[in-house]
Amino acid sequence: MVILYDLRIPINSTHFQIDTLIITPYFLLIIDSKNYAGTLIFLPEFNQLIRVQNDIEEVFSDPILQTKIQASQLKAFLKKHYITPPPIENLVAISNSQAIIKNPTNDKEVSYRVFRSSNVAFKIPPFYKTYTQPLLSRNDMKKIAKYLIKAHEPLVPNPKSMNLPFDKMVKGVQCPACEAFGMDYHQGKWTCKSCGHKSKDSHIQALRDYFLIFGPPITSKQFREFTKIESHSKAKRILSSMDLSYSGTTKGRTYSPGKGFFD
Ligand SMILES: [Zn+2]
Repeated sequence: MVILYDLRIPINSTHFQIDTLIITPYFLLIIDSKNYAGTLIFLPEFNQLIRVQNDIEEVFSDPILQTKIQASQLKAFLKKHYITPPPIENLVAISNSQAIIKNPTNDKEVSYRVFRSSNVAFKIPPFYKTYTQPLLSRNDMKKIAKYLIKAHEPLVPNPKSMNLPFDKMVKGVQCPACEAFGMDYHQGKWTCKSCGHKSKDSHIQALRDYFLIFGPPITSKQFREFTKIESHSKAKRILSSMDLSYSGTTKGRTYSPGKGFFD
């Protein structure tokens, strides 16, 4: 699984933006986060979202429709890069915990696609039941992420993506055998807690994922948090064993991918 945040991708003389894109072997998932406060009334038949706050009514464009447009733009982007698009799902996360969500017409689409961001852990697993056919290899997933990151033209930093608790889900080194996160490092080897698989270099893939998700550079402290290696000296040793370039002095040193790091 690869997760990208705050993408802004040029297409046909305009841009499309995606708050969160989750790339899995089975499907892609677009999540748009809305931090609106007040009472949110979804009226999809008119493509409207009404927000009532302090007796003031405001109309916003339908966020479900927005994510559908993003999905079709993403599809066009992938086709342009000769990638057959896998199924693309779309969700709308309401990140303001004070917001009251209303669906007066009991619209199925609204109850299916709109959710509170605190419930994200329950919202995504059902898609794995719907889409059971793996369509993308690990390399395909990386390729999609790389194309998107390369095309990305940031406008302004977007603090809203911090509202989704995804960073917790991707922490830890992933087992290449069973894909579980959180391998343990000791005596020069990574051991999977779930299946017992051992590997010497799983930190390389973990760091590639880190750079794809958060972008370079990385500090030794961030590397330790991400890989859950507690020892400073072990983390330093692993970092200096990889094809990385670094800048800064010992304490404030940051690491970036070296020339062949993604090969
Ligand atoms: Zn495993």
